[in-house]
Amino acid sequence: MYPSLNINLSKLAYNTSIISEIFVANNLKLMAVTKAFCGDCIIADTLVANGAEYLADSRIENLAKLKNIPIPKLLLRLPMKSEIESVISFADYSLNSELETIYMLSEAAVNQDKVHNIILMLDLGDLREGILPKDIYSLIPKILNLPLIKLSGIGVNLTCYGGVIPDEINLGELADIATRLEQDFNISLEIISGGNSSSFYLIESGKLPSKINSLRLGESILLGRETAYGNNILNLYNDAFILNCQIVELKEKGSKPKGKIGMDAFGNIPTFEDRGILSRAILAIGRQDVSPDDLTPIDKDIEVLGASSDHLILNLSNCKTKYKLGDVIEFSLNYGSILSLFTSPYVKKQYIK
Ligand SMILES: *Cc1c(COP(=O)(O)O)cnc(C)c1O
Repeated sequence: MYPSLNINLSKLAYNTSIISEIFVANNLKLMAVTKAFCGDCIIADTLVANGAEYLADSRIENLAKLKNIPIPKLLLRLPMKSEIESVISFADYSLNSELETIYMLSEAAVNQDKVHNIILMLDLGDLREGILPKDIYSLIPKILNLPLIKLSGIGVNLTCYGGVIPDEINLGELADIATRLEQDFNISLEIISGGNSSSFYLIESGKLPSKINSLRLGESILLGRETAYGNNILNLYNDAFILNCQIVELKEKGSKPKGKIGMDAFGNIPTFEDRGILSRAILAIGRQDVSPDDLTPIDKDIEVLGASSDHLILNLSNCKTKYKLGDVIEFSLNYGSILSLFTSPYVKKQYIK
């Protein structure tokens, strides 16, 4: 059945095990981020079997799916007031930046008689979530006294909104803050979380401050890439996920629509260059499943022309392969397309051992 997303579990196992070895060698705890695959248990099991020590997701629904995997779970997105009870039920840790939310977590933790671990997020320049460093000192005493709340660590998220690259300066600041908090409040922090796949390159270059003891990795594991510069990690696989779509129309047609041009299906007024007659294929997948800009045909001679909600249009004019109706075209994927394909119930998920 198509469209199908092929998930190569051996490649994911390999990527995870190599990253895990690097983490062990550098005294780092590996938190595997499951949001791109919507908390799929089979994939999560593979990551855990190959060295992931924590599972982390931004959505509590995904952590709920993972509840039978017996390792600690982290909620990555700051908890909504409307989901506090489920956060206590399904997450052992949550990332936080609002005292009011932490008070609510404490109340819910008391209701459920369960300890909840807090990782305070610091904003070190990226301007997404986090407490400003100047405000953290006044916050700590208020958190330390809360029933069933354990202050387990501090963390940072970079390269997400502002595109700020992690380096020895901003992560050095995180490390210094951790050291000072431990001294001044006489506490020990279990987790100093130095960011996501954009921090990976600092391990490779030996520049990750030694106080940082964990990273939260999604893309590095799934696509074998660090994301500060987009470089491959060692010989990890980039193609553990492949999309297959079937051709439902194949015709020689013009390249410039005929008639008066109004808005397309998405309210944009399109423009076209006349490139003569093209060999055009329509595939049964569309923007409801994935953005055409995030798909790379494995046959390099195929050009993606565009898509509407349910149709993806290709130019096959330059292909050496002679395609026919019903043939399956393969695409390699980036993080964005993996994310949206997993979210589409119309895309069949197929595991390859
Ligand atoms: C998504 C997310 C990550 C993982 O990011 P990758 O770039 O996939 O490694 C880490 N931390 C937080 C807070 C996130 O939201």
